[in-house]
Amino acid sequence: MNRKVPVWISAPLVCGAFGVLLWLERRRPLRRAVESKLKRNARNLAVAALSAAALQVTERPITEPLTALVERRRWGLLKKARLPEWLEVALAIVLLDYTLYVWHVLTHRIPWLWRFHVVHHVDLDLDSSTALRFHFAELVISILWRAGQVLLIGVSPLSLSVWQTALFLSILFHHSNVRLPFEVERRLNLLIVTPRMHGIHHSIVREETNSNWSSGLTLWDRLHGTLRLNVPQEEIIIGVPAYRAPEEVTLAKILVMPFGEERPTWQLPGDGKPARINLHGTPDQLSA
Ligand SMILES: [Zn+2]
Repeated sequence: MNRKVPVWISAPLVCGAFGVLLWLERRRPLRRAVESKLKRNARNLAVAALSAAALQVTERPITEPLTALVERRRWGLLKKARLPEWLEVALAIVLLDYTLYVWHVLTHRIPWLWRFHVVHHVDLDLDSSTALRFHFAELVISILWRAGQVLLIGVSPLSLSVWQTALFLSILFHHSNVRLPFEVERRLNLLIVTPRMHGIHHSIVREETNSNWSSGLTLWDRLHGTLRLNVPQEEIIIGVPAYRAPEEVTLAKILVMPFGEERPTWQLPGDGKPARINLHGTPDQLSA
């Protein structure tokens, strides 16, 4: 059985969520924007269109047959366990979410992977359009990881499609620049990644970026001791120290960024001195 979430359910869900978040971002913004929203949305959607096209020709021909094979031959952990379908799907989502946490850490820790992931992080503002802005090469490289996840966990076509839809909704939500009532966000954050939490991961301060790696459940950051919630959003500068000027993060520049000369990400340009960091705020050099 190769059942999966039909496109007529997932597409309106994702597009609808994006629309609602765009509307809320106008009405109740969480952080002040540096660049024009229209410009950034256009740029990020262009990056997204390229990535979607790249995934169509690279990911689908790999993961679709692979999940079908896992289903048919009962490969992987969950398929061996012969669980009721609802439980298998639920556990697959949890295990995919955890292994995505590990992948996210690797994209930061392994220098050649960071060259690609940094394109996502050099956005000078953070909103739901940032959720769509991953360099196509990062996504293509991640297919290998995805294939490993599918084979080891035993991910069926249904499990994969449910997870992909849920993940898409989750990343749109936690990248969004929506000011939720604090109490509501605090409660949601006990379970899932929220905008204030993920804002800290996009901070210019290295120690803050090196926290909050989860993409769905906050459980993984809690278990690994990498959860950080004590940074007020007003103190966060979004981005990385090496790329602070809008003219350095244009569409053309971010597309070639992974292949060009690499800048030390955590140093400010100019005299190249490392940014002195105070944990609760901005690098001193920026405010000087
Ligand atoms: Zn990241």
